[in-house]
Amino acid sequence: MYENLHVLNGSLLNKICDLTEDGRFFVVYDAALSRLHASKLKALLSAERCLGSFSQVVSEGDKTLLSVEAICRQMMRYSVNRDDYVIAIGGGVLTDMAGFASAIYKRGIAWLTVPTTLIGMVDAAIGGKTGVNTTWSKNSLGSFHAPQAVVFDDAFLMTLPDEEWQNGRAECLKYCFLDARFKLADNMAELSAFKRYCVAHSAQFANYKQAVALSDLRDLGRRQFLNFGHTFGHAYESAYSYRGLRHGEAVMLGMEIALHISERICDLDAAVSREYCAWLRAQEHYQKIKKLPFDQLVKFLIGDKKAHGGAVVMVLLEAIGKPRLEAFGVDRLAALYDQYYESNHY
Ligand code: NAD
Repeated sequence: MYENLHVLNGSLLNKICDLTEDGRFFVVYDAALSRLHASKLKALLSAERCLGSFSQVVSEGDKTLLSVEAICRQMMRYSVNRDDYVIAIGGGVLTDMAGFASAIYKRGIAWLTVPTTLIGMVDAAIGGKTGVNTTWSKNSLGSFHAPQAVVFDDAFLMTLPDEEWQNGRAECLKYCFLDARFKLADNMAELSAFKRYCVAHSAQFANYKQAVALSDLRDLGRRQFLNFGHTFGHAYESAYSYRGLRHGEAVMLGMEIALHISERICDLDAAVSREYCAWLRAQEHYQKIKKLPFDQLVKFLIGDKKAHGGAVVMVLLEAIGKPRLEAFGVDRLAALYDQYYESNHY
């Protein structure tokens, strides 16, 4: 179990005060929460130990160095010191940026995170990766800077719109492909059943991710399997200029492509991808995604963090629970992607 994961059972303010001991804190939060969770935020922001705050209307397109600089500038304005804490409250975009600001402000200060989206809870807030996007690729500037604690407050999930549940569902499905203990059927259930399942199981997903991250802190081995679906997913996000395609929607598509390639390269049982693809194609968001030809993706695939020596490294599946890394030259990958693209674009 992840000992720094706290499932809230009481007030958020009390929990933050406990976790920061006698320390002072600076709150970075998603501006969308000021209306949806006003009383929770007000209590925190008006606490004596709260030095100040920064809020931003977040979007993937604003996950940039400029936004991180704005956070740091505000921290400087409120005289935040190295022995203070940053409290990051928001989804994955907000926590990636606030975590990165914490990593570089005065060469690093402690931070705590309160993820407020499903992606945040099951993935982004766990494992210590922080960072921003650039024009050349997704999450390409960043740092490993683990939060001192992660606080799950289910009240945040209650205001998530359905699209954001779907967005988070991508990472839950990813865990099902990587570890047979998570069942695809539970995660491909109709939305209201999936929501109930997630409220009960979010900590289990987070524990799984934390265990994998701890076993490979610098992302040089087993942790790379967590990128299943992300090679093409990130390339699609970048090619869409981080607008009009949510991270989870891109990852769901990326997993479809990875399964297609896994069938050809790793003899993955076709029934695995058939079941997933049938489900995916029935999802409302999927119909709206315009598939892109390889030449619009290639520069982002080569710019991917896992790429080396001109080769693109993908996570493929031999079977559910049996991932493996495979390096591709660009021409070979183009041929495999083209088979997928020819039969799937419309
Ligand atoms: P996000 O932070 O943009 O949140 C999605 C939307 O939900 C936003 O519009 C936000 O305002 C809104 N929102 C947040 N909390 C809400 C709430 N409680 N109620 C209603 N609306 C709420 O994005 P996300 O989908 O949470 O995360 C995606 C990001 O996470 C991507 O940038 C991805 O790269 C990153 N990520 C990072 C890691 C990591 O290991 N660091 C892992 C996975 C994903």
